[in-house]
Amino acid sequence: MPCGECTACCTSSYFVHIGPQETETLARIPSDLLFAAPGLPEGTMLLGYDENGHCPMLIEAKCSIYEYRPLTCRMYDCRVFAAAGIAADRALIAQRARRWEFSYPAKDDRDQRSAVRAAARFLQEHAECFPGGAVPGNPAQVAILAIKVYDVFLRYNGESGKTGRVSADPEVAKAVMEASEKFEARRDTHHGRPHAPQLHISPNHTEVEGFR
Ligand code: SF4
Repeated sequence: MPCGECTACCTSSYFVHIGPQETETLARIPSDLLFAAPGLPEGTMLLGYDENGHCPMLIEAKCSIYEYRPLTCRMYDCRVFAAAGIAADRALIAQRARRWEFSYPAKDDRDQRSAVRAAARFLQEHAECFPGGAVPGNPAQVAILAIKVYDVFLRYNGESGKTGRVSADPEVAKAVMEASEKFEARRDTHHGRPHAPQLHISPNHTEVEGFR
């Protein structure tokens, strides 16, 4: 992730999840800066932020534990907002994300871009199609899910081409959920982890697995 000198995500009032297996990271953060993450597996911790919204491990504009920074920080990628065509929910990150530019040299690339954007719109505009409130609760989650399931929307490029919109349809929502589960199953297989369905959205948290 080409962050350069940017520290927008370190200064945007995010809680950072740290898994119990991240022992090297946890060992480098003072215990009084960590607290148990509610509703998550035992041992999962949260690193908070100071009164300015800055991560306390950010010292003189640099991550003081960079080599051991949490997995969440390593995985965070504000390009998802630009790819999905939606704004971040933090002003600094939204500003940073607007600066990303992508090239789409081939028609397939352009079709995929349109499908990702149509997916993001569908998720944002048709939450009612998803049973049990399974639609993401914040822009980062929407963007990530749109990227995971964009292929569902490739078939609607003709319909959504001009407006970028796909009509409300429970069948599309069902296909989205199936595509999300398949994506996670593939990822878990790749990482040798047991499959855990991932269209699991916690509306009370800004975070999704791997993201803050
Ligand atoms: S741990 Fe480091 S990379 Fe992560 S938010 Fe804090 S300062 Fe930024």
